[in-house]
Amino acid sequence: MLTTLHRIVQEVNGASDLSEALEIIVKSVREAVATDVCSVYLTDFEQRKHLLMATDGLRPEAVGKVALPMFRGLVGLVCERAEPINLDDAPSHSRYLPVSGTGEKYYHGFLGVPIIQNRKVLGVLVVRHIEPRRFEDDEVTFLLTLAAQLAGAITHAQASGELTRIRSGTDAVSEGFLQGRPSSSGVVIGSAVVAYQLSDLDAVPDRRSDDPAAEVLRFRKAIAAVQDDLHALREKMEHVLQEEDRALFDAWLMMLSEDALVERAVSLINEESQWAPGALRQSVLEHISVFDSMEDPYLRERASDIRDLGRRVLMHLQEEQTNGVDYPERTILVGEEVSAVQLMEVPEDRLAGVVSSTGSGSSHVAILARAIGVPAVMGLTDLPVSRVEGQDVIVDGYRGRFYVAPADSVCQEYERLITEEQQLGRELDELRGHTSETTDSFHLPLYLNTGLASEMSDLGITEAEGIGLYRTEFPFMTRDTFPGEETQIIAYRHVLETFNPRPAIMRTLDIGGDKPLPYFPFTESNPFLGWRGVRISLDHPEIFLTQVRAMLRASIGYENLRILLPMITTIGEIDELQQLISRAYDELQEEGYEIIMPEIGVMIEVPAAVYQAEEIAKRVDFISIGSNDLTQYLLAVDRNNPRVAELYDDLHPAVLQAVHHVVKAGTDYGCPVGICGELAGNPLATPLLLGMGVDSLSMSAGSLLRVKWVIRSLSRARCKQLLKKALQHHEAQQVHQMMNKVLGELGLEGLVRPGR
Ligand code: PEP
Ligand code: MG
Repeated sequence: MLTTLHRIVQEVNGASDLSEALEIIVKSVREAVATDVCSVYLTDFEQRKHLLMATDGLRPEAVGKVALPMFRGLVGLVCERAEPINLDDAPSHSRYLPVSGTGEKYYHGFLGVPIIQNRKVLGVLVVRHIEPRRFEDDEVTFLLTLAAQLAGAITHAQASGELTRIRSGTDAVSEGFLQGRPSSSGVVIGSAVVAYQLSDLDAVPDRRSDDPAAEVLRFRKAIAAVQDDLHALREKMEHVLQEEDRALFDAWLMMLSEDALVERAVSLINEESQWAPGALRQSVLEHISVFDSMEDPYLRERASDIRDLGRRVLMHLQEEQTNGVDYPERTILVGEEVSAVQLMEVPEDRLAGVVSSTGSGSSHVAILARAIGVPAVMGLTDLPVSRVEGQDVIVDGYRGRFYVAPADSVCQEYERLITEEQQLGRELDELRGHTSETTDSFHLPLYLNTGLASEMSDLGITEAEGIGLYRTEFPFMTRDTFPGEETQIIAYRHVLETFNPRPAIMRTLDIGGDKPLPYFPFTESNPFLGWRGVRISLDHPEIFLTQVRAMLRASIGYENLRILLPMITTIGEIDELQQLISRAYDELQEEGYEIIMPEIGVMIEVPAAVYQAEEIAKRVDFISIGSNDLTQYLLAVDRNNPRVAELYDDLHPAVLQAVHHVVKAGTDYGCPVGICGELAGNPLATPLLLGMGVDSLSMSAGSLLRVKWVIRSLSRARCKQLLKKALQHHEAQQVHQMMNKVLGELGLEGLVRPGR
């Protein structure tokens, strides 16, 4: 059964649209279970019905026409209960509903299993038998397992199908949208540009070529280059490999010279004007699906050889790509997993929005999008990335919606929203230059989170009272080797100079987790619990010392540098890192540099550090709470995983309690506590943080005026009352509701970033 299951899922994943996927399912299941009928009903929640979408056994004309009213009949019962129903005599069941139009006979055996995705019953997979038959346990589990695996494929095919229709011109516009996580507020209408990883075959987009002959030439050159590589490799390995192992190379070379793989790609270039990488992707994936669906495990393995060869060819094609991507005026960057570097590659004045299949509002790409001030939607799991290149799209960063080739009516609605946004922007602009003071004159300094030159916008520079978090890893991520001391000095000095005499808190390198360096690769099965932040710094003091020396030297002549240590888990780490900083300081003094020892602070972003906040407060000059990681670790929710994004909420009462605890510890020991995670820039949280008595908030430039507006609208006394009330709640949702109401009463509902 497992092999059959694997084969069906592979075939379904390779289907180009929903109806093809469903056809495959009903045919294969009917055969595998040896029964008379297999059908799939999908739930139409708007029309409140279960629509017959595919059948093998009933009349084919009924497909797309016959529907059962929502929750009626046995199909409705499966949907309602969200569990399988297995009956040997269906007609005698009280919920049995005979259906006309399907050519239905008197079927006795009935087994229906729900197809569930994200707790929602998308449809029902049904098998029926003329004779009375109670399906065996392993048949029930077979259908259940299949249905669970199919749910994703069905949603994916639904999304792809929509876009296929758009591309084929049969349905030029669409009112539908794909739903993801709202990750950076704002709305924008623009053109999609697909960002794909080099040599990531699946992510290569479709792109039209104007010169097929040149594309074919390019393609054949890349194939020849891979053949050369393989010959060279075989020669190199000659003395190490056995004869039969060497035969592997012959097999690979044969696959590459095989007409099927190469000629299919060439015909896609010639006949469909595909560019070479797109044609390669399609041809390779078609071949993979043939091998993948084979029952013989040895032959199935060949699929991975083809994929590997495909990647090698792609790498050669990419080396050849000379003049890079053409970014339209309002570029919406779309990808499976958009990286910070890809985002930075788009010219600053062209980037208008970001959309990614993976990630959530707390991923670094989303943080960057907020910093730059462009809308973003993350976690669009069903996004058929390869099909959106060049399409007109809308990104709704408030509701997490992504529209491809939207209808005129949708565009008009969004144009209206964009005008409203601009109005809010003008109102916020009026707050520029005003102090961030409560109505009872409590001053709460607002700092800037930055890391990119482009984030140091005019707004951030003029409005912020300093830099609360300079993420130094971004300058490290855009290079191909570790930057040396002199190179780092230039970057840091620019920041210190721009803000002098206002303080600038520079965080030491916080790589690992979701911030990899291309030239320092390592793989971990659980990177967020692995080697990251100061753990790497302690294991590689040479990297840490170079950075600290660069920071100290950059600060000569200024007195505004402060150093921040990320991901602290133990007191010992603080002691060791402080010693290293002192060492760098002493060495520089010996070398004749006149430096001032900066204040040193630590980030509290690991639960262990929350419970040792008092000890930490005694040791350091300041504390900065990294609420992004703290939320992830407290709630055990990977901040980049869209499947659990619903659970990630920095207004969760447990997070608020933890932040409150740290602020109290800081107050007790005279150690200032700031917040530099996304919580600091969320207007819903501002009154609560004020009530706790935090000493500063550090956020993206785009949030500065919004948060200032809230601060200027409330008294601190009121904030303390609100905090007391909020801490009595048990659910994040209750805190959201309460704070939404508070901002609504103040007339500030327009400020709220929905969805989180
Ligand atoms: C945080 O974790 O809250 C934080 C500010 O650090 P980063 O988002 O860079 O991990
Ligand atoms: Mg962090």
